[in-house]
Amino acid sequence: ILVPFVGLVLALWFYSGKEDFKPEMLQGKRVIVTGASTGIGEQMAYHLAHMGSHILITARTEAKLQKVVTRCLELGAASASYMNGSMEDMGFAQDVVKKAEALWGSIDMLILNHVTAMNLSYFHSNTEEMQKLLNVNFLSYVAMTTAALPMLKNSEGSIVVVSSLAGKIGFPFMVPYATAKFALDGFFSSLRQEFVIRNTNISITLCILGLINTDTAMKATSGMFSSFPAAPKEECALEIIKGGALRQREVYYKYSTVKIPVLFRDWVPDLLDYVIRTRFDVEKLKEN
Ligand code: NDP
Repeated sequence: ILVPFVGLVLALWFYSGKEDFKPEMLQGKRVIVTGASTGIGEQMAYHLAHMGSHILITARTEAKLQKVVTRCLELGAASASYMNGSMEDMGFAQDVVKKAEALWGSIDMLILNHVTAMNLSYFHSNTEEMQKLLNVNFLSYVAMTTAALPMLKNSEGSIVVVSSLAGKIGFPFMVPYATAKFALDGFFSSLRQEFVIRNTNISITLCILGLINTDTAMKATSGMFSSFPAAPKEECALEIIKGGALRQREVYYKYSTVKIPVLFRDWVPDLLDYVIRTRFDVEKLKEN
């Protein structure tokens, strides 16, 4: 009887100091969103616009970015701009942060979300391809964070990193993608420790997502991966922003479908691996 009681007291204590999310928290805030021409990033830009933030978005495709900026202004963004270019180039990653500084003088939130398009396939030991993917999906995150640190220190801002269940648990047929996502966890979880030691008041929120119904994800997994139904990108985008605004350590979306496998990872890893393998139609993959 003591165990549930202590659990309840601890839970009440833990949640008592928690602030509720209010859209005004983002009003007038200066936010960079990467990979915002489509998918979850695009939806984050619209939510932020609705909340009255200043927004700078990035991706490679200029025409799509222009459309997103126009929509953001219609929705009420305090300001909206874009910078197009490839995150393969670390110079571009740093220039995005410089542009934010030129526009606003500082930033309050850096949302790192972009990824290269992915096809499910066996790992072919192609080091060059792996290096390219790590540049885009990992190193550019480091480059932008490093460039933004002085401004984020002054504004006591937030870094929001969009990751995946494949960044907490081994998944087949996405080895390079998963490698980058695990690396993000290692980098940002370790950096968070140093922030605490040095009293640097910058929050880091790592977002662990399950399958989301973006066009890219639906195309990449179509017919080969059966999971729970894909969750809506609009709600997912809002949960990421809430987690960042509340300075949460991690966001799990959708909570039960993502958090439970992560808990099982340490208790019954072989069983969890087996269950994950059964979700893939390996025969279909061989045809590709
Ligand atoms: P999308 O493919 O819809 O969007 C990816 C964005 O990144 C686009 O804006 C794309 O624009 C941009 N991008 C791609 N390559 C580059 C590049 N070389 N340089 C700069 N920008 C680039 O992805 P999602 O919205 O599905 O995913 C968003 C995040 O959520 C990712 O971090 C992903 O790992 C994570 N996630 C998604 C899941 C899902 O099921 N959707 C599941 C788990 C995690 P452009 O092509 O114009 O450059």
